[in-house]
Amino acid sequence: MLLRLAFLLLGCLALAVLAAEDYYKLLGIKKDASEREIKKAYRTLSKKYHPDKNPGNEEASQKFVDIADAYEVLIDEQTRKIYDQYGHEGIEQHKKGGGPRQHHDPFDLFSRFFGGSGHFGHGGGERHGPNMEVRVAVPLRDFYNGRKTEFTVEKQAICSACEGTGSEDGHVETCDMCGGRGIVIKRQQLAPGLFQQVQQHCDKCGGQGKTIKHPCPVCGGSRVVREPETHELHIEKGMPHGVRITYENEADESPDWVAGDLIVHLVETDPALGQQDHERTDGTFFRRRGKDLFWREVLSLREAWMGDWTRNITHLDGHIVQLSRKRGEVVQPNTVEIIKDEGMPIWHQQLENNAEPQWGSLHVEYVVVLPDQMEKGMEKDFWGVWEKWRKKSGKVLDEELGRPKEAIKMPEEGHDEL
Ligand SMILES: [Zn+2]
Ligand SMILES: [Zn+2]
Repeated sequence: MLLRLAFLLLGCLALAVLAAEDYYKLLGIKKDASEREIKKAYRTLSKKYHPDKNPGNEEASQKFVDIADAYEVLIDEQTRKIYDQYGHEGIEQHKKGGGPRQHHDPFDLFSRFFGGSGHFGHGGGERHGPNMEVRVAVPLRDFYNGRKTEFTVEKQAICSACEGTGSEDGHVETCDMCGGRGIVIKRQQLAPGLFQQVQQHCDKCGGQGKTIKHPCPVCGGSRVVREPETHELHIEKGMPHGVRITYENEADESPDWVAGDLIVHLVETDPALGQQDHERTDGTFFRRRGKDLFWREVLSLREAWMGDWTRNITHLDGHIVQLSRKRGEVVQPNTVEIIKDEGMPIWHQQLENNAEPQWGSLHVEYVVVLPDQMEKGMEKDFWGVWEKWRKKSGKVLDEELGRPKEAIKMPEEGHDEL
């Protein structure tokens, strides 16, 4: 029985070793992923599996450690080569052989990306940096169709050359003037025998408490640099104008705090035709209000009055909405026709769970334009027709309404008696 148990345990161990996941798979990247893609994957996954966000979840904690391992192996050209050739085994051998790379604490690695001490510090007094807000404008078409795109913001990032120490050689010394406190206490003589103690900013270290002999050449010792960062942006069908999308811990970084959130306000650009066909639809000029769309269609006098016309309006995704009237169907000027389900798609967050997709309405307002120039012969024909029918059954509206032919005199002021 005991033997069997031992056997089973051994079996489990063997499985555990076998199960060491492929580093590329772990980070969700391709074999030929660029440095940028590796960093991006680390940024996303390390936040997702951080133990502070998954309290008591052993699996997540392990994943957090594994992701850090995978990152450190793949970001280094030498170890990546070894891994590509010899796999996990090769990396183990390399470590034993005392490879030049020191092994980082996964929390330390995390803090090099997001600042602070490597924790989100729920109630733990970890300082958070300020949130950052940006506006990103996209055309109405993207709100209608949904789209995956990217945007770039410039932000303060922890200097990767010195890993946020500010020092070229990694040496940071505690300031001998203030003992690392960043402040010094000075005695000032106010009068003979009368002294006052004053706290002052330490001049030697500039209040940092630390001094660096060889500042990092990239950041000049400031520990941070300004750099552009590109984020993926997933515009979901029907997202409302001005919707806020939060990118956790993607605001300005500093070794002194945990990066705050980057908040994107998604707004609509002014309508404009593009170069490509799909950017040149009528829909480009639809106006949006909530879930409804609005469009103005121009009709000639003949169309409005006599009917017998069709119009093909190209919608924001290129499909056609056909408007038409049969002969004899009159459209009064400024009539609004409401076409169901041709408005905006309703954002999934505003639908009940598992509800079928729904759309708002398209409101078409008809504007009638009268011709102000006519061919002479045509004018004559029309005039003739009008005269004929006016003589037969024409009415003088003023007479019908009993309107006076001349102005009416107002009574003189001040003579009314109460
Ligand atoms: Zn630096
Ligand atoms: Zn000092």
